[in-house]
Amino acid sequence: MPIRMCAACRGRFEKRELIRIVETADGGICVDKEQKAQCRGLYICGGCLPDAQRKKVLERSFRRRIEPELYDRLRAEAVDNG
Ligand SMILES: [Zn+2]
Repeated sequence: MPIRMCAACRGRFEKRELIRIVETADGGICVDKEQKAQCRGLYICGGCLPDAQRKKVLERSFRRRIEPELYDRLRAEAVDNG
């Protein structure tokens, strides 16, 4: 099982334990549930997701402004993901 690093805590986890967030070609940001999208992205662990907004993890990684609603949506999608 591949190991990936959480962008927030820098901890290393098995890929399936992480949530992959990608920036799509049209400039959107979404959860890559299949973890196969060929675009720029990062991994974040479930423990860090609630703090991601406060720590500005996505702002720092994607170097752009992130709407608060986007964090809400990512958290909701991550929960759906199980
Ligand atoms: Zn983490």
